[in-house]
Amino acid sequence: MTYDLLITGATIVNADGALHASIAIEGGAIAALFAPDAALPPAARTIDATGLIAIPGGVDGHCHAEQVTGRYRSLDTYASTTSAALRGGTTTIIDFGIPAEKSERPIDALQRKIDLISSSGARCDVALHGAVVEWDETTSAQLEHMAELGVHSVKMYTTNRGTTMSDDDTIVRVMHEMTRLDGLAYIHSEHDGIIVDRSEACADRGEIGIAHLHESRPRISEDASVREILAIAEYTGSPVYFVHQSTPAAVDAVVEARNRGMRAYSEICPHYLLRDDSVYSSATPEYFACCPPMRSADDVAGLRERVRRGLVDTLSSDHTSYDLAQKREHSDDVRHMPHGLPGAETRMAAGYTALVLQEGQPIEDFVALFSSTPARLNGLHRKGAVAVGFDADIVLFDPDERRVVHAEDLHQDSDFTPFEGMEFGGWARHVVSGGRLVVSDGEFADPGAVGRFIGQAPFSERPGLTSPAVVERVGALA
Ligand SMILES: [Zn+2]
Repeated sequence: MTYDLLITGATIVNADGALHASIAIEGGAIAALFAPDAALPPAARTIDATGLIAIPGGVDGHCHAEQVTGRYRSLDTYASTTSAALRGGTTTIIDFGIPAEKSERPIDALQRKIDLISSSGARCDVALHGAVVEWDETTSAQLEHMAELGVHSVKMYTTNRGTTMSDDDTIVRVMHEMTRLDGLAYIHSEHDGIIVDRSEACADRGEIGIAHLHESRPRISEDASVREILAIAEYTGSPVYFVHQSTPAAVDAVVEARNRGMRAYSEICPHYLLRDDSVYSSATPEYFACCPPMRSADDVAGLRERVRRGLVDTLSSDHTSYDLAQKREHSDDVRHMPHGLPGAETRMAAGYTALVLQEGQPIEDFVALFSSTPARLNGLHRKGAVAVGFDADIVLFDPDERRVVHAEDLHQDSDFTPFEGMEFGGWARHVVSGGRLVVSDGEFADPGAVGRFIGQAPFSERPGLTSPAVVERVGALA
C-alpha cells in the first residue's frame, strides 16, 4: 500500500522511552512504525528527519481562545490561536466554556464555544472544559448535558469576585456532581478574602499599580485556597486538578493528598519556572500581569525542584491574547486589569528550555508534561504518544537549535511575550497534525479550518497510555 506520509530517520521520544523508527501515517493516524533497517513502503510524501527528535504533538490542557470576561475580550480567534499553537508544536488545545456574564448559563457558554470551533475556523483539534460560576436548580441537568457532549471536566474559580468566582456552596455541589457524573473538577485556587483584604491595604498605601501585583496576591492566598479545595475534594470524593500552581507549598499539598489516595493533580506554566517577582520592578511589569503572579526566586527554585522530582503532572500555557493597550488601560490598579499572558506558541520552547536544557531532565519527562499526561488526564485517548493507532500528531525538532524570543516573531494576537529576549531551544521544525504537514521547515502551511471539537472520556476511563512498541516489535510490524 501507499501511505500518506512517511517520516524517516528521527529519534522518537515518548514519555516512557526512546526508539529509532520510521513513522508511517495513513488517514490521519499513525498506521505503522518500521525499524531503521526495514524496507520502507511507498508514500505520497516523505520527510527525512535525520538528526531530529520526534515527540507527540503537544496537548495544552489550559488555553483560552476567544475569551470574554466582563468587559474584556481577548484579541484572537480560534483560527489564530490554534495556528499559533501549531507553530509552537501544540496540536491539541483544551479551552473553556466560561460564562461571559453571570447571566449566561454554563451549558450555553459551552455550546457557544463548541459552535465557534468550526465557525471561527480552528486549525487543530480542540477539547473543552465546562465552567460553573453560580449553582442553581438547573445546574445538575446542565452538567449531565455537558457529559453527554463529552465534556467531563468543569472549571471553577475561587477568586475574581463578581465575575467568574464561585462560592463554597457552588464548589461543594459541583464537586458532588463530578463524583456522580465521573468527571474532574478544574480549580483556579487563590483565596479571594485574603486577596481582597491585601489589595485594599495596598490601595490604602497607594501601591496597587502593576508594580505591586505580587504584593496584592501573596503566596499564602494560593496555599490556603489549595488546602481548602483539597478538603472539599476529600469530602465529596471528586477528583481535582489545580491549574497553574505557582508555589512549592501548593504543589506539596497536592502531593500529600495524592499520597493519601486522593485523585489530585498539579499543573504548572512555563512563566512560573522562567520568571520571578523581580519582573514587577522591571521597565515592563505589565508583561507579567497574570494570576497568580510571579513568585520569589526561592519559590521558582522550589517549583523547579518539584518538577524534577516528578511531582507535577502537566505543563500548560494558560494562554490568553491580550495586548499592552488592554494591560496599560488599568495598570495603575491591578484590580481592574485584564489578567492573562500569551503563551500557546512558546509553551514547548519555554518548557523544554527550563526543564531539559536548564534542569537536565530527560526529554521523556518533558514529553509527559507537555503531551502525554495532559492527554491521559483529560481523557483524550488518541493523543499523547507516537505509537500505532494514535492520531498522527507529531512534532519534529532539532535539539541543537537556539533562538531568541521576540514578540514580533510570534503569532499570538498580542504585542508582547513574557519571555522577550530569552534564548530558547525546543522550537518546532516540522509539525504534523491529524496527518497533515502544517509546519514544514519552520514555515506554516495553513491546513484551513479542519479543527474538530473532540470529547473526553469519563474520568474512570482514563488509563495509562499504551506503551510505544519497542524496536524489535516495530520491526515485526513491517
Ligand atoms: Zn486560565
